[in-house]
Amino acid sequence: MLNDIQEVLYGANQIQQKVKELGQTISREFEGRNPLVICVLKGAFIFMADLVKEITIPLEIDFMAVSSYGQSTKTSGVVKIMKDLDAPVQGREILIVEDIIDSGLTLSYLIDVLERRNAKSVTLVTLFDKPAGRKVELEADYKGFVLPDAFVVGYGLDYAEHYRNLPFIGILKPEVYEK
Ligand code: 5GP
Ligand code: MG
Ligand code: MG
Repeated sequence: MLNDIQEVLYGANQIQQKVKELGQTISREFEGRNPLVICVLKGAFIFMADLVKEITIPLEIDFMAVSSYGQSTKTSGVVKIMKDLDAPVQGREILIVEDIIDSGLTLSYLIDVLERRNAKSVTLVTLFDKPAGRKVELEADYKGFVLPDAFVVGYGLDYAEHYRNLPFIGILKPEVYEK
């Protein structure tokens, strides 16, 4: 598994420090707002778990699964809801927790869905951002790290469902997905 990694971009400790900072900022920002924190599965599951432990105010959590990539490393542009929320969104202050923003297509679709369901507010936090990949205008309210335009895995992010359990974020060797 480690053999397939070309370069480690951020290690576990660096990520932990950043997640802590994001948690502190969000705690201040959402004081008294009882946010509904939505994890975008599967990629954001580790970030979600680490982030909510760093948030010190009352909140609720829910999960949503969307799919746009299939087994490829490029977005298909077609977003499908694979698992919907349990909680109603109407009137809620939503914090979307995402692993990485590339084209922005997934998130702009999701934000649209939540706004049509009459969320009171929709705020976006992403741990990783690849601004070079953007196909639609979309900016996260809070972000951890800006990454180069490369396909990365680890800390929840997969290639063909593997590598999610790596504790760091790293660039996957292109030969792994080009063969
Ligand atoms: P989008 O292109 O719609 O912004 O990205 C959609 C989803 O594709 C992300 O939430 C993430 O799950 C996945 N994705 C985007 N870039 C990468 C990447 O570099 N590595 C991995 N493993 N997934 C990515
Ligand atoms: Mg994602
Ligand atoms: Mg994936």
